[in-house]
Amino acid sequence: AKSQQRAGHFYFSRSMGVEIRERVRMMHALRTAFGQNQLFVVYQPQIDLATRRPVGAEALLRWQTADGKFISPDRFIPIAEYSGLIIDMGEWVMRTACRELVALRAAGHDNFMMSINVSQVQFRHPYFLEMLRRALADTGAPPEFVELEITESMAMEEPDLLIKMLGQIKQTGVSIAIDDFGTGFSSLSYLQRLQIDRLKIDRAFVTEITGSARGSSIAEMVIQLGRNLGLAVIAEGVEDERQAQILHTLGCPLAQGFLFARPMTADALNGWLSNDALE
Ligand code: C2E
Ligand code: CA
Ligand code: CA
Ligand code: CA
Repeated sequence: AKSQQRAGHFYFSRSMGVEIRERVRMMHALRTAFGQNQLFVVYQPQIDLATRRPVGAEALLRWQTADGKFISPDRFIPIAEYSGLIIDMGEWVMRTACRELVALRAAGHDNFMMSINVSQVQFRHPYFLEMLRRALADTGAPPEFVELEITESMAMEEPDLLIKMLGQIKQTGVSIAIDDFGTGFSSLSYLQRLQIDRLKIDRAFVTEITGSARGSSIAEMVIQLGRNLGLAVIAEGVEDERQAQILHTLGCPLAQGFLFARPMTADALNGWLSNDALE
């Protein structure tokens, strides 16, 4: 039994070593890539379901390694958070997206919102508010066209701190969306206490609406909740026309997904918006 235990222990620590080494390797690669400007931001349009016109875009971070491989943000964002690199990286995304918003406005696409993802590590950082204010001031991005996306899981922790932070953020003029909504357990009374503007229905519930008969219940509930609280609602991950139609019928005003457009570079977005305007 003793040797088995030892064998088990050995196996455990060796596999952990591999995992940690892999994480450290990726952390260094990410830091280098960031330093060498190998990260870039793409933008996925957000659509008004009634008119099918673009009303904004979500900024999404991309990492393409020197040998051309794309690494998913689902993999590298946790490493950036773990290493603290997310502070500088998140600031850079914020400034890049704000600059793009200003460029789009100069090209005539005014009335266009820019949504930016904020990590909880960034959000908790004492410099966050100042970082946000400076990004707005330095780029000249109008705050009323900037939205921050925070996840519902983040919204669940330390309610008092969150409520205070959201109040301060709102004073800058930017709006706030709760991302991946429906995956957590926020109560109605709690949501009412938060100064938020939008709920973003998680893709999992959008995928469900064309499935079983009861499939639309969570999406439907979020849309209803939004209406009751006076919040805008946007559905993410809309991939087919049936989903778009059901969401529209349920009263969901906005959507985002491969059906309308994939995330694209700043240049491509500018072209896409200009073509769209000519239709
Ligand atoms: P998210 O914020 O929920 O972003 C939506 C994700 O869904 C994006 O994946 C987007 O490309 C993808 N998506 C959009 N439409 C569709 C669709 O119709 N079908 C499917 N299957 N997927 C769709 P992406 O770009 O790989 O990002 C993954 C996650 O990484 C994001 O999830 C977000 O949590 C995080 N992330 C990305 N960029 C940033 C960033 O700048 N900062 C932070 N903190 N997190 C980021
Ligand atoms: Ca998001
Ligand atoms: Ca999301
Ligand atoms: Ca998601």
